[in-house]
Amino acid sequence: MVVMNLRNELIEILEELRIFFEFQKSLGVERVFMQRQTEGQDETFQLLQEDKPIPKTSDKPSLSANVQLNIFDPLVKEQSLEQIREEIGDCTRCKLHEGRTNIVFGEGNPKARLVFVGEGPGRDEDIQGKPFVGRAGQLLNKIIEAMGLKRSEVYICNVVKCRPPENRTPESDEIGTCEQFLFKQLLAIDPEVIVCLGGVAAQSLLHAKTKLLDLRGKFHTYGKAKLIVTYHPAALLRNPALKKPLWDDMQIVMKELGLSKSGD
Ligand code: URA
Repeated sequence: MVVMNLRNELIEILEELRIFFEFQKSLGVERVFMQRQTEGQDETFQLLQEDKPIPKTSDKPSLSANVQLNIFDPLVKEQSLEQIREEIGDCTRCKLHEGRTNIVFGEGNPKARLVFVGEGPGRDEDIQGKPFVGRAGQLLNKIIEAMGLKRSEVYICNVVKCRPPENRTPESDEIGTCEQFLFKQLLAIDPEVIVCLGGVAAQSLLHAKTKLLDLRGKFHTYGKAKLIVTYHPAALLRNPALKKPLWDDMQIVMKELGLSKSGD
């Protein structure tokens, strides 16, 4: 049993490593040097720039499952949000471009402390070119206000930037094509907290297959940011009983950001 668990954990770590390095490659990183963790060092695996000497290592093995999440590394060139939007251009990289009216890049404070990430644009968003402007968006606005914030103070974006036909769930190739831009947006904004709205956002950002129920209610790590997973506002519209757990999650965020409830 223990051996099986270790084996599964090792397979998971290797898969995380593969995804991490493929992603780095897609961002233009060509070479990385690895440093083994020595006693007293930070828990994360180090990626070293080529011009820095490789420090002496101890014989202690150092692989940490944290590695895949340590993605805000200094080798990735930071772009402004305007530059990222320019790079996306009139995108035809995946099949979602065929049915879209507008690319929904994201909007809000470019230096927001808090970023909300949804799944993908719906009909209203596709028409207006803005994220979360339909019914789910109105509910998200209420949640933001109840947290004591204005919509303009946070940043709102999605995993995919074009509306999937009939609002279907984005497919893995579509997510894979678009994720580099979401990653770069998050790198540019450098938020303290990221809120994943729904399972698609959560599984995409965390590169995990874990169910939303098992991911929510606690912080995860996404580079320098803390990431929390909660229900999508559209799920609350269908099932109001989810309001309580969503609000519990938002209170964790508010505590982290030092916010008090509106009216307090
Ligand atoms: N649902 C999403 O996930 N994103 C939007 O922008 C709107 C609805």
